[in-house]
Amino acid sequence: MSAEIIDGKAIAAALRQRIAKAVSQLQENHNLTPGLAVVLVGEDAASQVYVRNKGIATKEAGMVSLEFRLPADTSQEALLEKVRELNNDPSVHGILVQFPVPEQISQQAVIDTISPDKDVDGLHPQNAGRLVSGLPALTPCTPTGSVILAKQTLGDLTGKHAVVIGRSNLVGKPVAQLLLNENCTVTMAHSRTKDLAAVCRQADILVAAVGIAEMVQGDWIKPGACVIDVGINRVAGAEAGKTRLVGDVDFAAASAIAGHITPVPGGVGPMTIACLLRNTVTAACRLAGLDEIEI
Ligand code: NDP
Repeated sequence: MSAEIIDGKAIAAALRQRIAKAVSQLQENHNLTPGLAVVLVGEDAASQVYVRNKGIATKEAGMVSLEFRLPADTSQEALLEKVRELNNDPSVHGILVQFPVPEQISQQAVIDTISPDKDVDGLHPQNAGRLVSGLPALTPCTPTGSVILAKQTLGDLTGKHAVVIGRSNLVGKPVAQLLLNENCTVTMAHSRTKDLAAVCRQADILVAAVGIAEMVQGDWIKPGACVIDVGINRVAGAEAGKTRLVGDVDFAAASAIAGHITPVPGGVGPMTIACLLRNTVTAACRLAGLDEIEI
């Protein structure tokens, strides 16, 4: 048996088209153009690429993209002041501070300072709490994208046993909560889980969000399962000096047993930016007191 590949690139592209349509509706009907502000502190090469890609995608969707680049030695107070300024700027509907931030700045202080109404990363404790409480919330982008992929692949997820490996605030916890909201029976696994392989073998849906290259082996997969690989790990490539990206799942072995599987790259990754744009549209509607557009 060979698993069907879940084409995250195509699903994200279709989502971005629907977002662009929603944006033009907002412009035509309400003279409202959603605006996303991205703040980058320092010169981290990977972060610069992420920020550039977010800016391009934002403009492609017809939204306003604002970019703020602050030097690596920016103080915490200066960054928080910038965030407060954006909180008070009516043309800004979403605020994202690119992580990681330099060590003199507390990541949690940044998260806590972003207005929950503009928290398009979905990391503010108020949004995390609302998600757990089943209230409307801005939900974290990678987990939201992962669950969209599972739903588009399997349809109704009710009653499915989902195993999530990883319990970070960024990925593992919100993905588990979103799956619970879809009526899955959810098991959360982590570094202290006993006999992880046996736990994973129970999963109809297996979400791997660990950060260890190809940790999940083929014989951890229940035959026919849907495997969502969130991991992004850079490993040595076949050619000397070259690297390549792999997930947290041994793709070749797992795809011989799974029913559906996301590739890395081209699976969950492209969904993250698409969900960021979707959150920005949602935030803009809520801030303007409009009914939300189903995207
Ligand atoms: P964290 O390092 O914050 O969390 C990793 C989690 O994995 C922890 O909960 C940890 O458990 C668990 N873990 C570590 N080792 C093991 C093990 N041996 N067995 C079982 N569980 C283990 O990572 P993130 O959640 O931020 O990211 C996870 C992965 O997702 C990374 O590869 C990251 O690059 C990728 N990622 C991808 C994104 C995308 O856009 N596709 C976006 C964000 C992240 P414990 O809590 O017990 O320590």
